[in-house]
Amino acid sequence: MPGRHQERTLRVDPIKCEGHALCIEAFPEMITADPWNYPVLAPGPVPPHLVRHAEHAVKVCPVLALRLVG
Ligand code: SF4
Repeated sequence: MPGRHQERTLRVDPIKCEGHALCIEAFPEMITADPWNYPVLAPGPVPPHLVRHAEHAVKVCPVLALRLVG
């Protein structure tokens, strides 16, 4: 579709996630902590100007539980 940005969305694998919260520190704009320090992702696609931050959050996850899809 002309002029349409590719949408990229964060996903967390709740089985793999160990609640290190490193992703929350890395990308607080779209990832917050639940009461047990597990990540809660903001709904919807990552705004284009925040995609680099999202990619960084994906890299810091030590168990590869966080992915950027799309
Ligand atoms: S860094 Fe990875 S393991 Fe830690 S809370 Fe985030 S998704 Fe879960």
